[in-house]
Amino acid sequence: MNPTTILLLYLALAGLDLLWGVFLAYLNWRSVRSAGGKVPPELARSVSKEEAAKAGEYSMARLRFGLLEAPLTTLPTLAVAALGLFGLLDAGLGGIVSGWGFSGLHDFVRAALFFVVIALASGLISLPFSLWSTFGIEKRFGFNTSTIRTWLFDGLKGALISALIGLPLLALLMAFMDATGGLWWLWAAAIFSLVNIALSIIFPLLIAPLFNKFTPLPAGTLADRIGELAARLGFRMRGIFVMDGSKRSRHSNAYFTGLGAVKRVVLFDTLISSMGEDEILAVLAHEIGHEKRRHVLKMTAVSILLAFVGFWVLSILMGWGELYAAFGFAERTKEAIMLIFALVSGPATFFLGPLFSAWSRRHEYEADAFAARAAGKEAMASALLRLNKENASNLWPHPLYAFWNYSHPTLRQRLAAIGKVEG
Ligand SMILES: [Zn+2]
Repeated sequence: MNPTTILLLYLALAGLDLLWGVFLAYLNWRSVRSAGGKVPPELARSVSKEEAAKAGEYSMARLRFGLLEAPLTTLPTLAVAALGLFGLLDAGLGGIVSGWGFSGLHDFVRAALFFVVIALASGLISLPFSLWSTFGIEKRFGFNTSTIRTWLFDGLKGALISALIGLPLLALLMAFMDATGGLWWLWAAAIFSLVNIALSIIFPLLIAPLFNKFTPLPAGTLADRIGELAARLGFRMRGIFVMDGSKRSRHSNAYFTGLGAVKRVVLFDTLISSMGEDEILAVLAHEIGHEKRRHVLKMTAVSILLAFVGFWVLSILMGWGELYAAFGFAERTKEAIMLIFALVSGPATFFLGPLFSAWSRRHEYEADAFAARAAGKEAMASALLRLNKENASNLWPHPLYAFWNYSHPTLRQRLAAIGKVEG
């Protein structure tokens, strides 16, 4: 294939990916608009008119935002790729770094600068959208509690952490490509899978505390009941923590984090203030259900498998000269092929999205059923309704949008399924 054909093929696929996403979001927006904020009949007894009206307006605002954000952040990337500017950047950096004279580190410094420049540029493009989302939409609907200062420090800390983790990994990957011959991708995939697991262990201990305060749940009936529930379900954990989620937003959540011995339960303070004890226990039982049904293990196994496939594909693409030329790279550098891989992998696999969504929804149904048995159907149903209300989630998603994008079944589907669970 000649370089022009490859580039056109990439642009066509990426364009299709973008258009399809925008089309689905538009369908979804229309579905919400035509519902006009009316409570769906099945939910007549559990959702108030005011809740439904707020959910309708909030969902439409978020969807309108997405309809603008997706093209405005994607099109610049496509333009830069089409004009061959990525290749020009790499060549320019190659020239600059040669003048600095670190011979052994030349390739790494060049690649690192290449990715830092791209990360900064893409950060700049998404900056106004993040500001608008947080201080426009979220604020208007009364969700945002974040200050500009918190928002700014979040961004800086996030960038610093990405660099501290990403740059050593880049050096490691480049070293493996040089040192381990044709099978470098096997080594790289193995090391990256280990790093992934290590990160999920250190995340709750070292990284999450940089963004939020975690305080042990004070002794009392809630802590006692959570302890009883965990013991009854044979779930071992290291502590229950309350996170100051209200520092940034009124949205609420609960999750488990960590692996093995460092597994901890995290409850948002917003969840504790908005839910009753029975509901909180149901939410936790749902999370324990994910663990007990081995969903976390399966997800980890799949991500390891994907790492092997991904690095193998990368190793094949490395030898394809026309591919570099298609994106404007005159030299076959390692950073060139990594970037091309990153650009192409999304558009080349976007049609697999629904497969992962469907798999994730199946897990959610299983965890809901587990929780309904462990903590009661009513508590689980009422927890879902409460979460939906607190987050003003869409009550009228378009079926095709939900099928394609939703990692969780819709509220109505979940309530119906919980109703059918047998004790
Ligand atoms: Zn879940």
